[in-house]
Amino acid sequence: MNHLDQTLLFDADDTLWENNVYFERAITAFISYLDHRVHTTEEVREHLNSVERQTVAAHGYGLKSFRRSLIRCFEELADMPLTEDKHHRIVSFVDSISEQEMELMPGVAETLPALAARHRLMVVTKGDEEEQIDKLRRSGLAAYFTAVEVLPEKHEAAYRALAARHACDRRQTWMIGNSPKSDINPALAAGLNAIFVPHDFTWVLEHELVDQPPEGAKLIELGSFRDLLNYF
Ligand SMILES: [Mg+2]
Repeated sequence: MNHLDQTLLFDADDTLWENNVYFERAITAFISYLDHRVHTTEEVREHLNSVERQTVAAHGYGLKSFRRSLIRCFEELADMPLTEDKHHRIVSFVDSISEQEMELMPGVAETLPALAARHRLMVVTKGDEEEQIDKLRRSGLAAYFTAVEVLPEKHEAAYRALAARHACDRRQTWMIGNSPKSDINPALAAGLNAIFVPHDFTWVLEHELVDQPPEGAKLIELGSFRDLLNYF
């Protein structure tokens, strides 16, 4: 391809930087703390997933929502009351996530400057606006992007609205990300092109099969972030 002046929309969590692995660690610590005598680890995890689906639907994504989920999961499963001490401990699992240093995905630091010199780059993420903007600032990558969109949810209508807002020519616009559910399938449905960069530890709530692109839209799967330079 190598056309100049394409618009490249980048997902952030688990595309530009590590994110879900920290949540997985916190969940492992939580489950081990809960130390349930009746439910297996898998059963506790299943329950937490279902609690998370409900919390996200009611309160959106982000750490505050995750904290709510862990506390509710504890209250629903534990055979002991949630004392102030226990509450404090659960909150500490959540705090350990926000205390993480930003860890860029391999190839991101050297690939983005080259792409930014040739194309228009934007961040399209979902979650808590303050948390996402703060991560972008701490990543040191903010200067490569002309716009940052923190959306409540990344569905087809959100991509259509975003494309209109930024006057994106849909044939020259690409959504790049690790989540079939939030990055690839809804962007394709909105008529944009998509680049799937799979991550080994994508959040289970983002799992979905990748759809075939509709007529006129393109879908490419890459083995690594660096491979973007072969196309742009
Ligand atoms: Mg992601």
